[in-house]
Amino acid sequence: MRQEIKDKKLRAHLIAILQLIGEDPNREGLKDTPKRIVKMYKEIFRGYDPTQEPLITTFNNGADGVYYDQIITDQGYFFSHCEHHGVPFFGEYSFGYIPDKKVLGLSKVARVVDYYSAKLQIQERLGGEIIDYIEKVVKPKGLILQLKARHLCKEMRGVKKYDGKMTTSIVRGVFESDHIARQEFFELIKK
Ligand code: ZN
Repeated sequence: MRQEIKDKKLRAHLIAILQLIGEDPNREGLKDTPKRIVKMYKEIFRGYDPTQEPLITTFNNGADGVYYDQIITDQGYFFSHCEHHGVPFFGEYSFGYIPDKKVLGLSKVARVVDYYSAKLQIQERLGGEIIDYIEKVVKPKGLILQLKARHLCKEMRGVKKYDGKMTTSIVRGVFESDHIARQEFFELIKK
């Protein structure tokens, strides 16, 4: 389907939703809202578009005279949408790996996180997709990823619980058996 036809259809559905929840889609504040949402969806749901998958460039470990064999970490934020309720869940990611033959440019981790966050997700799968992709490209000795997030579906609805963040972590390779390496990672990411 052509992009403009898709956009038009989506706009029509959004207008219908506004009407069905009791709004007047023609009132001043709302008349451009469906158009704005369509535009925003292209950004926040670009994870469905395989052409936007980030390209990870790596360099050979040792090529610049330094051989990296320690834990390298990266931390940042992510924003995604819960597939059960369609509202955001968002928080911090902490990533660590021990390189083998390839070293990863760290700005790349954020791009991978952003890409896989940009669709309807659950936190567990999001972590899995990020780590699978990096593992496939970099083939490190070990990698570890922790996601800590607020889920608005939990905070906005029903019994409102504002306190609990959901934490998930995935470990691969040497981190699975090496407790000391794992401990060191958690020490490194402490703020
Ligand atoms: Zn949910």
